[in-house]
Amino acid sequence: MITSLAEVSPEKKASLFQRQFGRFGGCYMPELLLQSLEQLLEDYSRLKDDNSFQEKLKQTLCHYAGRPTPLTEVKRFSQAISGPKVYLKREDLLHTGAHKLNNALGQCLLAQHTGKKRIIAETGAGQHGVATATACAYLGLDCVVYMGEVDIKRQAPNVKKMKLLGADVRSVFNGSATLKDAINEALRDWTNNFENTHYCLGSALGPHPYPQIVEDFQRVIGEEVQKQVIDYGFTQPDLLIACVGGGSNAIGLFAPFLENSQIQMVGVEAGGEGVDTSRHAARFATGRPGVLHGCYTYLLQNEDGQVLPTHSISAGLDYPAVGPHHAQLFEEGRVSYQAVTDKECLQAFRLLAQSEGIIPALESSHALAYLIKIAPQLAKDCRVVVNLSGSGQKDLPQVLPLLEKELS
Ligand SMILES: *Cc1c(COP(=O)(O)O)cnc(C)c1O
Repeated sequence: MITSLAEVSPEKKASLFQRQFGRFGGCYMPELLLQSLEQLLEDYSRLKDDNSFQEKLKQTLCHYAGRPTPLTEVKRFSQAISGPKVYLKREDLLHTGAHKLNNALGQCLLAQHTGKKRIIAETGAGQHGVATATACAYLGLDCVVYMGEVDIKRQAPNVKKMKLLGADVRSVFNGSATLKDAINEALRDWTNNFENTHYCLGSALGPHPYPQIVEDFQRVIGEEVQKQVIDYGFTQPDLLIACVGGGSNAIGLFAPFLENSQIQMVGVEAGGEGVDTSRHAARFATGRPGVLHGCYTYLLQNEDGQVLPTHSISAGLDYPAVGPHHAQLFEEGRVSYQAVTDKECLQAFRLLAQSEGIIPALESSHALAYLIKIAPQLAKDCRVVVNLSGSGQKDLPQVLPLLEKELS
Protein backbone atom coordinates (compact mmCIF):
# COMPACT_ATOMS: atom_id res chain seq x y z
CA MET A 1 0.00 0.00 0.00
CA ILE A 2 1.22 3.48 -0.87
CA THR A 3 0.89 6.01 1.87
CA SER A 4 3.84 8.29 1.41
CA LEU A 5 3.20 11.95 0.74
CA ALA A 6 5.68 11.95 -2.12
CA GLU A 7 3.14 10.07 -4.23
CA VAL A 8 0.99 13.19 -4.58
CA SER A 9 2.77 15.63 -6.89
CA PRO A 10 2.96 19.35 -6.03
CA GLU A 11 0.66 20.19 -8.97
CA LYS A 12 -1.97 17.72 -7.79
CA LYS A 13 -1.69 18.97 -4.25
CA ALA A 14 -2.20 22.52 -5.46
CA SER A 15 -5.43 21.58 -7.23
CA LEU A 16 -6.62 19.73 -4.13
CA PHE A 17 -5.78 22.62 -1.77
CA GLN A 18 -7.37 25.30 -3.91
CA ARG A 19 -10.33 26.95 -2.22
CA GLN A 20 -13.21 26.38 -4.60
CA PHE A 21 -15.66 28.89 -3.21
CA GLY A 22 -14.09 32.33 -2.91
CA ARG A 23 -12.02 32.20 0.26
CA PHE A 24 -13.89 29.08 1.44
CA GLY A 25 -13.47 25.36 0.84
CA GLY A 26 -10.07 23.77 0.27
CA CYS A 27 -8.67 20.57 1.70
CA TYR A 28 -7.31 20.54 5.23
CA MET A 29 -6.63 16.87 5.88
CA PRO A 30 -3.92 14.67 7.35
CA GLU A 31 -1.28 13.91 4.72
CA LEU A 32 -2.14 10.21 4.71
CA LEU A 33 -5.52 11.03 3.17
CA LEU A 34 -4.32 13.25 0.34
CA GLN A 35 -3.79 10.35 -1.99
CA SER A 36 -7.35 9.08 -1.57
CA LEU A 37 -8.75 12.56 -2.16
CA GLU A 38 -6.50 13.14 -5.16
CA GLN A 39 -7.68 9.86 -6.70
CA LEU A 40 -11.29 10.80 -6.05
CA LEU A 41 -10.76 14.20 -7.68
CA GLU A 42 -9.24 12.53 -10.73
CA ASP A 43 -11.98 9.88 -11.00
CA TYR A 44 -14.74 12.41 -10.56
CA SER A 45 -13.30 14.89 -13.05
CA ARG A 46 -13.31 12.11 -15.63
CA LEU A 47 -16.81 10.75 -14.90
CA LYS A 48 -18.40 14.19 -14.68
CA ASP A 49 -18.09 14.47 -18.45
CA ASP A 50 -18.60 10.79 -19.22
CA ASN A 51 -21.88 10.34 -21.08
CA SER A 52 -22.37 6.69 -20.17
CA PHE A 53 -21.92 7.48 -16.46
CA GLN A 54 -24.31 10.43 -16.59
CA GLU A 55 -26.88 8.37 -18.50
CA LYS A 56 -26.66 5.52 -15.97
CA LEU A 57 -27.17 8.03 -13.15
CA LYS A 58 -30.16 9.57 -14.89
CA GLN A 59 -31.78 6.18 -15.51
CA THR A 60 -31.21 5.08 -11.92
CA LEU A 61 -32.72 8.28 -10.50
CA CYS A 62 -35.72 7.85 -12.80
CA HIS A 63 -36.47 4.12 -12.59
CA TYR A 64 -35.27 3.35 -9.06
CA ALA A 65 -35.45 6.52 -6.99
CA GLY A 66 -38.58 8.01 -8.54
CA ARG A 67 -37.35 11.22 -10.20
CA PRO A 68 -38.58 13.68 -11.21
CA THR A 69 -40.29 14.44 -7.91
CA PRO A 70 -43.43 16.59 -8.23
CA LEU A 71 -43.70 20.34 -7.74
CA THR A 72 -46.94 20.84 -5.81
CA GLU A 73 -48.84 24.11 -5.49
CA VAL A 74 -50.24 24.36 -1.94
CA LYS A 75 -53.14 26.81 -2.08
CA ARG A 76 -54.73 26.00 1.27
CA PHE A 77 -51.40 26.41 3.07
CA SER A 78 -50.88 29.70 1.26
CA GLN A 79 -54.33 30.89 2.30
CA ALA A 80 -53.71 29.87 5.91
CA ILE A 81 -50.60 32.07 6.08
CA SER A 82 -52.12 34.98 4.08
CA GLY A 83 -49.28 34.39 1.76
CA PRO A 84 -48.07 34.42 -1.81
CA LYS A 85 -48.20 31.54 -4.28
CA VAL A 86 -46.35 28.59 -2.74
CA TYR A 87 -44.93 25.55 -4.54
CA LEU A 88 -43.27 22.65 -2.74
CA LYS A 89 -40.49 20.61 -4.34
CA ARG A 90 -41.44 17.16 -3.14
CA GLU A 91 -38.19 15.43 -2.16
CA ASP A 92 -40.31 13.74 0.53
CA LEU A 93 -41.63 11.57 -2.30
CA LEU A 94 -38.19 10.38 -3.37
CA HIS A 95 -37.46 6.73 -2.48
CA THR A 96 -36.49 6.49 1.24
CA GLY A 97 -38.28 9.80 1.88
CA ALA A 98 -35.58 12.45 1.47
CA HIS A 99 -33.16 14.11 -0.95
CA LYS A 100 -30.15 12.28 0.54
CA LEU A 101 -30.61 9.37 -1.86
CA ASN A 102 -29.67 11.58 -4.88
CA ASN A 103 -26.17 11.94 -3.46
CA ALA A 104 -25.83 8.38 -2.13
CA LEU A 105 -26.79 6.88 -5.51
CA GLY A 106 -24.49 9.28 -7.35
CA GLN A 107 -21.48 8.49 -5.19
CA CYS A 108 -22.13 4.72 -5.14
CA LEU A 109 -22.41 4.68 -8.93
CA LEU A 110 -19.17 6.67 -9.08
CA ALA A 111 -17.53 4.02 -6.89
CA GLN A 112 -18.90 1.25 -9.07
CA HIS A 113 -17.59 2.90 -12.25
CA THR A 114 -14.12 3.14 -10.73
CA GLY A 115 -14.10 -0.51 -9.70
CA LYS A 116 -14.57 0.02 -5.97
CA LYS A 117 -16.79 -2.58 -4.37
CA ARG A 118 -16.74 -1.37 -0.79
CA ILE A 119 -18.48 1.76 0.52
CA ILE A 120 -17.98 3.38 3.90
CA ALA A 121 -20.10 6.16 5.36
CA GLU A 122 -20.58 8.08 8.58
CA THR A 123 -23.97 8.86 10.01
CA GLY A 124 -25.34 10.88 12.91
CA ALA A 125 -29.11 10.57 13.03
CA GLY A 126 -28.95 7.68 10.59
CA GLN A 127 -30.57 9.27 7.52
CA HIS A 128 -27.41 9.32 5.42
CA GLY A 129 -26.55 5.81 6.63
CA VAL A 130 -29.93 4.53 5.47
CA ALA A 131 -29.60 6.27 2.07
CA THR A 132 -26.12 4.79 1.58
CA ALA A 133 -27.19 1.30 2.70
CA THR A 134 -30.11 1.53 0.26
CA ALA A 135 -27.89 2.53 -2.68
CA CYS A 136 -25.40 -0.24 -1.81
CA ALA A 137 -28.13 -2.89 -1.65
CA TYR A 138 -29.42 -1.79 -5.05
CA LEU A 139 -26.00 -1.73 -6.68
CA GLY A 140 -24.60 -4.83 -4.95
CA LEU A 141 -21.83 -3.05 -3.02
CA ASP A 142 -20.51 -3.84 0.47
CA CYS A 143 -21.53 -1.19 2.96
CA VAL A 144 -19.94 -0.24 6.29
CA VAL A 145 -21.57 2.56 8.30
CA TYR A 146 -19.73 4.16 11.23
CA MET A 147 -21.97 5.52 13.92
CA GLY A 148 -21.28 6.82 17.43
CA GLU A 149 -22.44 4.56 20.24
CA VAL A 150 -24.53 7.40 21.69
CA ASP A 151 -26.28 7.88 18.33
CA ILE A 152 -26.79 4.13 17.93
CA LYS A 153 -28.75 4.14 21.18
CA ARG A 154 -30.75 7.26 20.22
CA GLN A 155 -31.57 6.09 16.68
CA ALA A 156 -32.37 2.41 17.15
CA PRO A 157 -34.97 2.18 14.32
CA ASN A 158 -32.52 3.54 11.72
CA VAL A 159 -29.82 1.14 12.93
CA LYS A 160 -32.20 -1.78 12.42
CA LYS A 161 -33.14 -0.45 9.00
CA MET A 162 -29.49 -0.23 7.90
CA LYS A 163 -28.89 -3.80 9.11
CA LEU A 164 -31.99 -5.01 7.28
CA LEU A 165 -30.55 -3.42 4.13
CA GLY A 166 -27.40 -5.46 4.61
CA ALA A 167 -25.07 -2.80 6.02
CA ASP A 168 -22.41 -3.52 8.62
CA VAL A 169 -23.08 -0.87 11.28
CA ARG A 170 -19.96 -0.26 13.36
CA SER A 171 -20.23 1.34 16.73
CA VAL A 172 -17.71 4.07 17.60
CA PHE A 173 -16.89 4.45 21.28
CA ASN A 174 -14.20 7.15 20.99
CA GLY A 175 -14.62 10.75 22.12
CA SER A 176 -18.21 11.86 22.56
CA ALA A 177 -19.34 8.79 20.56
CA THR A 178 -21.36 10.93 18.15
CA LEU A 179 -21.12 12.13 14.54
CA LYS A 180 -17.66 13.72 14.65
CA ASP A 181 -16.15 10.56 16.13
CA ALA A 182 -17.89 8.46 13.46
CA ILE A 183 -16.31 10.73 10.81
CA ASN A 184 -12.86 10.18 12.34
CA GLU A 185 -13.31 6.39 12.26
CA ALA A 186 -14.52 6.46 8.66
CA LEU A 187 -11.47 8.52 7.67
CA ARG A 188 -9.18 6.07 9.45
CA ASP A 189 -10.77 3.18 7.55
CA TRP A 190 -10.43 5.07 4.26
CA THR A 191 -6.73 5.74 4.84
CA ASN A 192 -6.09 2.01 5.11
CA ASN A 193 -8.45 0.80 2.38
CA PHE A 194 -8.77 3.48 -0.26
CA GLU A 195 -7.69 1.21 -3.11
CA ASN A 196 -10.95 -0.76 -2.94
CA THR A 197 -13.12 1.61 -0.88
CA HIS A 198 -15.10 4.78 -1.55
CA TYR A 199 -16.00 7.10 1.32
CA CYS A 200 -19.56 8.29 0.70
CA LEU A 201 -19.85 11.66 2.44
CA GLY A 202 -23.36 12.83 3.27
CA SER A 203 -23.61 16.59 2.70
CA ALA A 204 -22.08 19.42 0.65
CA LEU A 205 -19.12 19.83 2.99
CA GLY A 206 -15.80 18.26 3.96
CA PRO A 207 -12.55 18.50 1.98
CA HIS A 208 -12.40 19.24 -1.74
CA PRO A 209 -13.74 17.66 -3.95
CA TYR A 210 -16.69 16.54 -1.79
CA PRO A 211 -18.61 19.84 -1.59
CA GLN A 212 -18.60 20.08 -5.39
CA ILE A 213 -19.47 16.40 -5.93
CA VAL A 214 -22.44 16.52 -3.55
CA GLU A 215 -23.66 19.81 -5.03
CA ASP A 216 -23.51 18.34 -8.53
CA PHE A 217 -25.52 15.27 -7.47
CA GLN A 218 -28.18 17.40 -5.74
CA ARG A 219 -28.42 19.98 -8.50
CA VAL A 220 -31.08 17.83 -10.19
CA ILE A 221 -33.56 19.31 -7.66
CA GLY A 222 -33.20 22.84 -9.03
CA GLU A 223 -32.93 21.70 -12.63
CA GLU A 224 -36.30 19.96 -12.35
CA VAL A 225 -37.85 23.06 -10.77
CA GLN A 226 -36.62 25.13 -13.76
CA LYS A 227 -38.71 22.92 -16.04
CA GLN A 228 -41.67 22.34 -13.72
CA VAL A 229 -42.57 25.99 -13.14
CA ILE A 230 -43.36 26.20 -16.86
CA ASP A 231 -46.25 23.73 -16.32
CA TYR A 232 -47.67 26.29 -13.87
CA GLY A 233 -47.48 29.01 -16.50
CA PHE A 234 -44.41 30.98 -15.42
CA THR A 235 -40.78 30.98 -16.42
CA GLN A 236 -39.00 31.56 -13.13
CA PRO A 237 -39.78 31.69 -9.41
CA ASP A 238 -39.27 34.92 -7.42
CA LEU A 239 -38.03 33.36 -4.18
CA LEU A 240 -36.44 30.03 -3.20
CA ILE A 241 -36.37 28.80 0.39
CA ALA A 242 -34.58 25.73 1.78
CA CYS A 243 -33.31 24.55 5.14
CA VAL A 244 -29.53 24.37 5.66
CA GLY A 245 -27.84 21.63 7.67
CA GLY A 246 -24.63 20.82 5.84
CA GLY A 247 -26.34 22.54 2.95
CA SER A 248 -26.90 19.87 0.29
CA ASN A 249 -30.64 20.17 -0.32
CA ALA A 250 -30.40 23.97 -0.33
CA ILE A 251 -27.47 24.18 -2.76
CA GLY A 252 -29.17 21.53 -4.92
CA LEU A 253 -32.19 23.81 -5.29
CA PHE A 254 -30.24 27.09 -5.55
CA ALA A 255 -27.34 26.13 -7.85
CA PRO A 256 -29.04 26.30 -11.26
CA PHE A 257 -30.61 29.68 -10.35
CA LEU A 258 -27.57 31.46 -8.88
CA GLU A 259 -26.70 33.33 -12.07
CA ASN A 260 -30.15 34.89 -12.25
CA SER A 261 -30.00 37.93 -9.97
CA GLN A 262 -33.78 38.46 -10.12
CA ILE A 263 -34.35 35.35 -8.05
CA GLN A 264 -34.02 35.77 -4.29
CA MET A 265 -32.90 32.91 -2.06
CA VAL A 266 -33.08 32.20 1.64
CA GLY A 267 -31.32 29.41 3.54
CA VAL A 268 -32.87 28.62 6.90
CA GLU A 269 -30.76 27.39 9.80
CA ALA A 270 -31.74 25.82 13.10
CA GLY A 271 -32.40 28.56 15.66
CA GLY A 272 -33.05 25.92 18.34
CA GLU A 273 -34.10 27.64 21.57
CA GLY A 274 -33.06 31.03 20.12
CA VAL A 275 -29.86 32.38 18.57
CA ASP A 276 -29.28 34.48 21.70
CA THR A 277 -29.01 31.25 23.75
CA SER A 278 -26.22 28.67 23.50
CA ARG A 279 -28.66 26.07 22.17
CA HIS A 280 -28.88 26.43 18.39
CA ALA A 281 -27.02 25.60 15.17
CA ALA A 282 -27.20 28.99 13.40
CA ARG A 283 -23.68 29.20 11.99
CA PHE A 284 -24.28 32.43 10.10
CA ALA A 285 -25.96 34.13 13.05
CA THR A 286 -23.12 33.73 15.56
CA GLY A 287 -20.36 31.70 13.91
CA ARG A 288 -17.19 32.78 12.12
CA PRO A 289 -14.78 31.19 9.64
CA GLY A 290 -12.57 28.30 10.70
CA VAL A 291 -11.60 24.77 9.69
CA LEU A 292 -13.67 21.70 10.52
CA HIS A 293 -13.66 18.26 8.89
CA GLY A 294 -11.35 19.32 6.12
CA CYS A 295 -12.71 22.62 4.88
CA TYR A 296 -12.55 26.33 5.63
CA THR A 297 -16.06 27.60 6.29
CA TYR A 298 -18.36 29.20 8.85
CA LEU A 299 -18.60 27.33 12.11
CA LEU A 300 -19.74 27.72 15.67
CA GLN A 301 -16.66 28.14 17.85
CA ASN A 302 -15.58 29.80 21.05
CA GLU A 303 -12.95 32.54 21.36
CA ASP A 304 -10.15 29.96 21.31
CA GLY A 305 -11.46 28.40 18.13
CA GLN A 306 -12.83 25.32 19.88
CA VAL A 307 -15.95 23.95 18.21
CA LEU A 308 -19.13 24.57 20.18
CA PRO A 309 -21.89 22.04 20.90
CA THR A 310 -25.10 22.59 18.96
CA HIS A 311 -28.79 21.95 19.44
CA SER A 312 -31.78 21.58 17.16
CA ILE A 313 -35.11 19.79 17.34
CA SER A 314 -34.15 18.33 13.95
CA ALA A 315 -31.17 15.99 13.84
CA GLY A 316 -30.38 16.86 10.21
CA LEU A 317 -29.67 20.52 11.02
CA ASP A 318 -27.74 19.88 14.21
CA TYR A 319 -24.14 20.37 13.02
CA PRO A 320 -21.55 23.06 13.92
CA ALA A 321 -20.26 23.75 10.37
CA VAL A 322 -21.88 24.47 7.01
CA GLY A 323 -20.94 23.77 3.40
CA PRO A 324 -18.28 26.19 2.02
CA HIS A 325 -20.36 27.29 -0.96
CA HIS A 326 -22.96 28.66 1.46
CA ALA A 327 -20.21 30.55 3.30
CA GLN A 328 -19.29 32.22 0.02
CA LEU A 329 -22.92 32.98 -0.89
CA PHE A 330 -23.41 34.46 2.58
CA GLU A 331 -20.44 36.81 2.36
CA GLU A 332 -21.33 37.85 -1.18
CA GLY A 333 -24.86 38.60 -0.02
CA ARG A 334 -26.24 36.43 -2.84
CA VAL A 335 -28.23 34.25 -0.43
CA SER A 336 -29.78 35.45 2.83
CA TYR A 337 -29.44 33.12 5.83
CA GLN A 338 -32.05 33.21 8.58
CA ALA A 339 -32.87 31.12 11.62
CA VAL A 340 -36.15 29.88 13.06
CA THR A 341 -36.70 28.27 16.46
CA ASP A 342 -37.72 24.73 17.39
CA LYS A 343 -41.11 26.11 18.36
CA GLU A 344 -41.70 27.87 15.03
CA CYS A 345 -40.63 24.67 13.27
CA LEU A 346 -43.24 22.61 15.12
CA GLN A 347 -46.01 25.08 14.26
CA ALA A 348 -45.10 24.86 10.57
CA PHE A 349 -44.93 21.05 10.77
CA ARG A 350 -48.48 20.95 12.04
CA LEU A 351 -49.87 23.59 9.71
CA LEU A 352 -48.68 21.85 6.54
CA ALA A 353 -50.07 18.52 7.77
CA GLN A 354 -53.48 20.01 8.52
CA SER A 355 -53.82 22.31 5.53
CA GLU A 356 -52.42 20.02 2.83
CA GLY A 357 -52.15 16.42 4.06
CA ILE A 358 -48.37 16.50 3.72
CA ILE A 359 -46.23 15.73 6.77
CA PRO A 360 -42.89 17.53 6.34
CA ALA A 361 -39.56 16.52 7.88
CA LEU A 362 -38.59 18.66 10.86
CA GLU A 363 -35.66 19.92 8.79
CA SER A 364 -37.92 21.05 5.93
CA SER A 365 -40.35 22.55 8.47
CA HIS A 366 -37.69 25.17 9.18
CA ALA A 367 -37.98 26.44 5.61
CA LEU A 368 -41.78 26.53 5.90
CA ALA A 369 -41.59 28.31 9.26
CA TYR A 370 -39.49 31.09 7.77
CA LEU A 371 -41.99 31.50 4.92
CA ILE A 372 -44.82 31.73 7.46
CA LYS A 373 -42.92 34.55 9.21
CA ILE A 374 -42.42 36.68 6.11
CA ALA A 375 -45.63 35.74 4.25
CA PRO A 376 -47.61 38.89 5.17
CA GLN A 377 -44.88 41.11 3.68
CA LEU A 378 -44.79 39.28 0.34
CA ALA A 379 -46.91 40.33 -2.64
CA LYS A 380 -49.82 37.97 -3.30
CA ASP A 381 -48.55 37.21 -6.79
CA CYS A 382 -45.00 36.44 -5.61
CA ARG A 383 -44.03 32.86 -6.52
CA VAL A 384 -42.16 30.99 -3.84
CA VAL A 385 -40.60 27.55 -4.17
CA VAL A 386 -39.85 25.76 -0.89
CA ASN A 387 -37.69 22.66 -0.91
CA LEU A 388 -39.56 19.99 1.03
CA SER A 389 -36.33 18.05 1.59
CA GLY A 390 -37.93 15.07 3.30
CA SER A 391 -40.95 13.38 4.83
CA GLY A 392 -41.85 13.77 8.50
CA GLN A 393 -42.66 10.09 8.85
CA LYS A 394 -39.28 9.55 10.52
CA ASP A 395 -40.02 12.32 13.02
CA LEU A 396 -43.41 11.13 14.29
CA PRO A 397 -42.11 9.24 17.36
CA GLN A 398 -40.36 12.46 18.43
CA VAL A 399 -43.01 14.99 17.45
CA LEU A 400 -46.29 13.33 18.45
CA PRO A 401 -45.56 13.43 22.20
CA LEU A 402 -44.59 17.12 21.86
CA LEU A 403 -47.88 17.93 20.15
CA GLU A 404 -49.95 15.67 22.38
CA LYS A 405 -51.63 18.43 24.37
CA GLU A 406 -52.61 20.36 21.27
CA LEU A 407 -53.92 17.31 19.44
CA SER A 408 -56.06 15.83 22.22
C1 LIG B 1 -30.13 15.46 6.35
C2 LIG B 1 -31.34 16.25 6.02
C3 LIG B 1 -31.29 17.65 5.87
C4 LIG B 1 -30.05 18.46 6.11
O1 LIG B 1 -28.99 18.19 5.26
P1 LIG B 1 -28.57 19.16 4.07
O2 LIG B 1 -27.29 18.60 3.62
O3 LIG B 1 -28.46 20.55 4.65
O4 LIG B 1 -29.65 19.10 3.06
C5 LIG B 1 -32.45 18.31 5.50
N1 LIG B 1 -33.61 17.65 5.32
C6 LIG B 1 -33.70 16.31 5.47
C7 LIG B 1 -35.02 15.66 5.25
C8 LIG B 1 -32.57 15.57 5.83
O5 LIG B 1 -32.68 14.24 5.98
